[in-house]
Amino acid sequence: MPIEILTIPCLSDNYAYAIQDSETGEVAVVDAPEAAPILRALSFKGWGLNQILLTHHHSDHIDGLDLLHQAVAAPIVGARADANRLPALELAVGEGDAFALGTQPVHIYDVSGHTKGHVAYYFPDGNAVFTGDSLMVMGCGRLFEGSAELMWDSLSKLMELPPETRIYSGHEYTASNAKFALSIEPENKALIDRARQISEARARGDDTMGPTLALEMATNPFLRAALPEVKAGLGMQGASDVDVFAEIRRRKDNF
Ligand code: ZN
Ligand code: FE
Repeated sequence: MPIEILTIPCLSDNYAYAIQDSETGEVAVVDAPEAAPILRALSFKGWGLNQILLTHHHSDHIDGLDLLHQAVAAPIVGARADANRLPALELAVGEGDAFALGTQPVHIYDVSGHTKGHVAYYFPDGNAVFTGDSLMVMGCGRLFEGSAELMWDSLSKLMELPPETRIYSGHEYTASNAKFALSIEPENKALIDRARQISEARARGDDTMGPTLALEMATNPFLRAALPEVKAGLGMQGASDVDVFAEIRRRKDNF
């Protein structure tokens, strides 16, 4: 395996991630909701810390940064577009940029919509993408700063990644997302099966991160707005993809 990924629960339902390049042992952490669980996880694994990767400016993703950075002064990477409201960045990145974690290439996607200047970190060799509050497992982030069109564009970019790509998002919202998904597509067989697996996983206390993009595209209503059967189910035959996406997002806001 080219990378090892550790999912680190923080606050009430946030996740940070630690990613180790297996070849060099270099480690990146994605987001810093709080420092203590991250430092505990790193020391449990005996890992150092070489990079801190920020997805977006919200406090539940950066509030642990000061303490984390005091403990290990690793360089901070974040969106150039958000540099004015993020802590000082050693590396400011935007759409199409790339850097490396040890031997692992990391590609940047601008996935604005939840906020403007939200980025996702894609590890093509490691087959994983860290999406923060853009694409979420079985859902997507609320539109706080961007339009439905901007989020739909962002999700559409992520849908172009290889189907076997694994999705790691910023929160454990999957069980309630699955309930909502069933309200949109009550007869989607793959969704019914997955909703059952999710409640079993949560009952065991397991996290639900790391599903494949293929599974998300079969079950996440926000990735299915372009499908004729989804449009028909909403009574929106002939509507544009983005209008259907906006309607699904509206319904979720009121669910
Ligand atoms: Zn957020
Ligand atoms: Fe968040």
